Amino acid sequence: MLDRLGRPLRNLRLSVTDRCNLRCQYCMPEAEYTWLPREDVLHFEEISTLVDVFISLGVDHLRLTGGEPLLRRDLPSLVRMLSRKSGLRDLAITSNGILLAEAVDALKAAGITRVTVSLDTLRPDRFVALARVNELARVQQGIAATVRAFGTLKIDTVVINGVNDDELVDLIEYAKPLHAEVRFIEYMDVGGATNWSPEGVLPRAEMLARLTRHYGSLEPLVDTSSAPADRFRLPDGTVFGIISSTTEPFCRSCDRSRLTADGLWYLCLYAAHGLDLRGLLRRGATAEELRTVLTERWTTRQDRGAEARLALGDRRAFVPLRALKENPHLEMHTRGG
Ligand code: SAM
Ligand code: SF4
Ligand code: SF4
Repeated sequence: MLDRLGRPLRNLRLSVTDRCNLRCQYCMPEAEYTWLPREDVLHFEEISTLVDVFISLGVDHLRLTGGEPLLRRDLPSLVRMLSRKSGLRDLAITSNGILLAEAVDALKAAGITRVTVSLDTLRPDRFVALARVNELARVQQGIAATVRAFGTLKIDTVVINGVNDDELVDLIEYAKPLHAEVRFIEYMDVGGATNWSPEGVLPRAEMLARLTRHYGSLEPLVDTSSAPADRFRLPDGTVFGIISSTTEPFCRSCDRSRLTADGLWYLCLYAAHGLDLRGLLRRGATAEELRTVLTERWTTRQDRGAEARLALGDRRAFVPLRALKENPHLEMHTRGG
């Protein structure tokens, strides 16, 4: 099933909660938030039903996210339900790592295939300034436990000019003995990033220039998958990635969509509206009816949100604070990143 730009529906990011135990300044910088009503949050059985429909339409990569997914009670039970589905090739999770050390063995036993941990700094004082709590040590314990369980992981780092842009090399060096692959993410002007400004973005080209100055020539790796990261190899064989959503977006190959914890389906990170699958499900829609609605939406999809943002001359935070207070679905932490 292809959209108007010929893009298949393949990846689903499944947010299991909008709550988080960090307050990253690029994602949740405000003092207070409007949360999704608890009664609206999908039950595991509802998630499982929807995932079956998505799989029947071509989704074979699923990533659990949030908020912080490990805050969802009894997450391994959901993972067990999902990992039994024969159409799934990949069942991954993105976490801030704080609760991973205790959870990783159960997640692996339940069927998680890959883990990504977000880590923006190796400096405790900077971690507190960035995320408002003193939890760097626990994140690093979570990373170590993940490496023990899975042998590898990905580390996602949002790079902000003047905040952590001096840690590119340190993070690569930290990841080497862990067999982890770092992916540097350009700071995006998504909903919730209320402090965003163009000056905060360290463009991919500048990241590459700095890393070339330090390491020597970088070999671009040809990757046929549609994963958002462009990957490079250092002279010693170490591989890292860059996700350049802000300065060089990759909308033309975007095969991902997002389901919020309360069952709204978004076809783009920048989409203003989502389709209320919870409402359809709780009103008794059959799998066939859901398939019809999803097919109609995907086959008429034309979203190119990040490219449209790039085309704007005067760029500032995408969603004003007032709108975020009224509609938490506009928040990155509700959409799952
Ligand atoms: N809490 C989990 C975590 O941080 O890994 C999962 C949810 S978080 C919303 C998913 C991803 O979105 C994280 O890797 C985070 O760094 C990224 N993210 C959030 N706000 C962003 C922004 N303004 N620009 C770029 N990436 C952002
Ligand atoms: Fe940070 Fe992830 Fe929480 Fe956002 S959802 S505040 S990126 S830990
Ligand atoms: Fe896909 Fe929208 Fe992100 Fe572009 S901005 S890569 S279309 S989710």
